Amino acid sequence: MTPIRPDLDTLPAYVPGRTVPGAIKLASNEVTEPPAPPVLEAIARAAAGANRYPDLGVVELTDRLAAAYDLGPERIAVGCGSVTICQQLVQATCLGPGDEVLFAWRSFEAYPIVTQIGAAAVRTVGLTADFRHDLDAMAAAVTERTRLVFVCSPNNPTGPAVHRDEFVRFLTAVGPDVLVALDEAYAEYVTDPDAVSGRPLLDEYPNLVVLRTFSKAYRMAGLRVGYALGSAEVTTALRKVCPPFSISAVAQAGAIAALEHSAEILAGCADVVRERDRVAAALRDNGFVVPDSQANFVWLPLGERAAEFAAHCAEQKVIVRPFVSDGVRVTVSTPQENDALLDVATAFAL
Ligand SMILES: *Cc1c(COP(=O)(O)O)cnc(C)c1O
Repeated sequence: MTPIRPDLDTLPAYVPGRTVPGAIKLASNEVTEPPAPPVLEAIARAAAGANRYPDLGVVELTDRLAAAYDLGPERIAVGCGSVTICQQLVQATCLGPGDEVLFAWRSFEAYPIVTQIGAAAVRTVGLTADFRHDLDAMAAAVTERTRLVFVCSPNNPTGPAVHRDEFVRFLTAVGPDVLVALDEAYAEYVTDPDAVSGRPLLDEYPNLVVLRTFSKAYRMAGLRVGYALGSAEVTTALRKVCPPFSISAVAQAGAIAALEHSAEILAGCADVVRERDRVAAALRDNGFVVPDSQANFVWLPLGERAAEFAAHCAEQKVIVRPFVSDGVRVTVSTPQENDALLDVATAFAL
């Protein structure tokens, strides 16, 4: 018998958004426009040196992030996308069966996968009726076996952001022996003034680690760069379990250029936010339930009709992301692509 872990047979598969040639893809929360021109130039330059290994320590990018967040570089860990950092967090905190990772459900589909890969136990707490984290119930669900909690704000796929006051109450309640990872993959789209921001809480809560990514607002999902901000103890552990050379030279160069031009690049988020609010309002006007979204997508809690809605959209060449028996996540894109979505959605008989 090949010595493969039998539990991998029960590992849920990560379901990527479908790419259909000629269709509008609103399934993966990507930005439709290509990366910014200076990013493309930096990538091309770095590609010419691809015969060499990348910088193992990711030094220049780490220093730039340190300056941007006003943190020492030792408090930053760069990873091959923040999904990989999620997996590293499990590896850095959990020793095996019995150790628990807690998160809300439904939330980011990578959390159960990386937890199981780390041979830790999945513990979940349901969202509230308005599709938000129930942080008081999550605090109550922490046990002496809980090592790590993922809090996704804004929550993928449902949209709402966690509020600062409830998050601080949660951090205080769980105490210093549980590592809390605040996954801010969509932070650049947040407009709710009450929403939590992780960086200002880092100095007071050494058990907090904040995850960010270049995949969404920076339009670099294909390059694979994410990072963690946290205590030096946590980020040092993350670096220890990072697969060597996993942040490519092309990715490092692209991310450095993106930071240099972040003001221009992030200006595009305002358009997405305006479109998000327009799309949500139009869908509500047509009878859909749409929870408050603080990200670049909206959630349609269609329950058993989720797959039917996705198939209806696909027939009209609009690809959305169904979560079977639960709901459909639709990425907010350009006005033209959003209009196409609204046309097919309003033709769907609720
Ligand atoms: C998209 C996303 C990420 C980013 O993943 P990368 O690996 O950086 O591309 C992380 N967390 C959540 C919740 C996401 O939706």
